[in-house]
Amino acid sequence: MQKNQVIIIGGGAIGSAIAYFLAAHPRFKGKITVIERDPSYAQASSALSASSIRQQFSTPVNIAMSQFGIRFLRELPQHLAVDGETPDLALTENGYLYLATAAGERILRDNHTIQKQHGVDVALLEPAALQARFPWLDTADLALASLGLSGEGWFDGYGLLMAFRRKARSLGVQYVAAQASSLVRRGNKVSAVRLDDGSELACDWAVNAAGAWARPLLADTGFDLPVYGRKRCVFVFSSPAQTPGCPLVIDPSGLWFRAEGAYWICGLPPPQDGNDLPLEVDYELFDLAWPVLAQRVPGFEAIRMQRAWAGYYEYNSFDQNAILGPHPLLSNLLLANGFSGHGLQQSPAVGRGLAEWIADGAYTSLDLSPLSAQRLLDKRPLLEKNII
Ligand SMILES: Cc1cc2nc3c(=O)[nH]c(=O)nc-3n(C[C@H](O)[C@H](O)[C@H](O)COP(=O)(O)OP(=O)(O)OC[C@H]3O[C@@H](n4cnc5c(N)ncnc54)[C@H](O)[C@@H]3O)c2cc1C
Repeated sequence: MQKNQVIIIGGGAIGSAIAYFLAAHPRFKGKITVIERDPSYAQASSALSASSIRQQFSTPVNIAMSQFGIRFLRELPQHLAVDGETPDLALTENGYLYLATAAGERILRDNHTIQKQHGVDVALLEPAALQARFPWLDTADLALASLGLSGEGWFDGYGLLMAFRRKARSLGVQYVAAQASSLVRRGNKVSAVRLDDGSELACDWAVNAAGAWARPLLADTGFDLPVYGRKRCVFVFSSPAQTPGCPLVIDPSGLWFRAEGAYWICGLPPPQDGNDLPLEVDYELFDLAWPVLAQRVPGFEAIRMQRAWAGYYEYNSFDQNAILGPHPLLSNLLLANGFSGHGLQQSPAVGRGLAEWIADGAYTSLDLSPLSAQRLLDKRPLLEKNII
């Protein structure tokens, strides 16, 4: 399976993770080029993320990917140090806390059963125990909560991207600042990637890691990738409230918040979603967030928004899960798309998996085939109940 020229389109966390794992793979001896049109990553999701990691998924493959993700983050210095410089991602393992009213209790219990079967360190808390553990929380309307006891929290996502990139370059990966415009095909293979200036880079393997912009690259390839940019806004706010041990809290309304240094950040799904909308902050969303925050944490009656940003979820409208591995019709074109809000934490598992696919011809550590494009052709969605 050894092939020489690998072109990765998109140098965000996903593309850079694939580049790093492939360059570090003992059985890969080829050349790796990453085409990244914007080395400042101004609009890249990896730079605009909430950068959190959880184990509380409802599908075994997502759980396994995050289990590897947290191991990798904990051991990061030994993997991604360059010239003795070790990246510090300020990994904070404060857990995720899912809150449920009576309406959501069943789903929390079902997810808990799956999570325990797969070794997730998670506990269900009845309202009294929840109140005792987090006295700053209003639990009056709640029936149950699920708290990750280890392996969950947040980290510097942009730092992770930079650490992958720096390490990949130190291992010989070349980054080209250019826009990939299309794929050149010969039979059922991609033979080259065409750049905006008309030049072509020949390849044995091409990888589509173009985030929210992945879909147009597959135009006319016979597979319509259902991935769109869905804008998500994040608000940073201050408050005199005290929330010791604050995890990433997911309110039954869909709003989430977590501590961020001296501040907190929060986000919520917009009442109306649209595809590929311009990345301007919808400030009116904060007016919707504030009453929910104040109801859940009485101390948040007094809050002040400090700043905000907007980024794209690379939203897979079919089933909100990653689409990984070979394109259904072009066997040397690999897809790494559609992460729908959990791509940063999955980047180590994706990088390792696609590197194995190229170097070994198969997933050897963790079988990522449940995330293959085949499920879209078969119309069998891989439903993840825990989408934020
Ligand atoms: C508000 C928000 C909160 C999030 N929270 C979390 C979270 O808590 N945990 C988590 O795990 N994930 C989270 N995510 C999702 C996560 O950030 C993404 O899934 C992940 O960063 C995707 O990485 P990527 O490399 O695929 O995409 P990107 O980082 O967007 O990188 C794609 C790159 O491709 C480049 N590119 C695109 N098209 C071309 C082309 N034609 N030619 C050359 N270059 C091209 C772009 O310039 C870009 O740099 C969040 C996302 C957002 C927006």
